[in-house]
Amino acid sequence: MGSGPEPVCHCGKAAHRIEIVGARVNRPPLAPVWFGSHERHLAAYYRPMSVDPASLTILRYPHPSLLHVAKPVAEITDETRTVAARMLELMREARGVGLAAPQVGLAWRLFVTNSGEEDEPDRVYINPALRQPEGGLEAHEEGCLSLPEVLGDVWRPPTITIEATDLDGNRFTLRSGELLARVWQHEYDHLDGRLIIHRFGQMAKLANRRVLKDLERAGQR
Ligand SMILES: [Zn+2]
Repeated sequence: MGSGPEPVCHCGKAAHRIEIVGARVNRPPLAPVWFGSHERHLAAYYRPMSVDPASLTILRYPHPSLLHVAKPVAEITDETRTVAARMLELMREARGVGLAAPQVGLAWRLFVTNSGEEDEPDRVYINPALRQPEGGLEAHEEGCLSLPEVLGDVWRPPTITIEATDLDGNRFTLRSGELLARVWQHEYDHLDGRLIIHRFGQMAKLANRRVLKDLERAGQR
């Protein structure tokens, strides 16, 4: 994947590293073929397809789309723009401050935000990169639209710079030491298939165990 995102998998199925992401793995492959709904959803996640924005909904953990690395957006088209508009709509309906493409089942490195701070506009970030984190790690409680009722402290640097492409194809850079800095890091994690539960400490993991079990049960078909 060149200089792209590190090809990791958070679904716990090591063979995906080989079968799907194509990464080099330093351990012997496990069972090489996966069947069942997880794999079917995953194949759909990575398959190039035309998108009906109206059909997009916010997916919940443990949907496979939430647990795998998304791919860079190669071209910005009308489809990209209508999807971004639909994502902003979904984010607002759910009273969220950010939403990433994997949360609506698209393996795109794209997310949207509106932190709700005064005069803060809707923003779309395509192929974002985070850099220059500053300050010691700080804990704040985070939730996620894909993990209803799950809340816990996540440690992140308070200040960071983001570079991304907007819907007109222009590269832009922003730096924040406010809520947006945390939202960027949370949404960026989604592009790498990483959720807040992967960053929780033992206390938060324990506190959310039952809710997670319920979500996992509800996600089984
Ligand atoms: Zn989230």
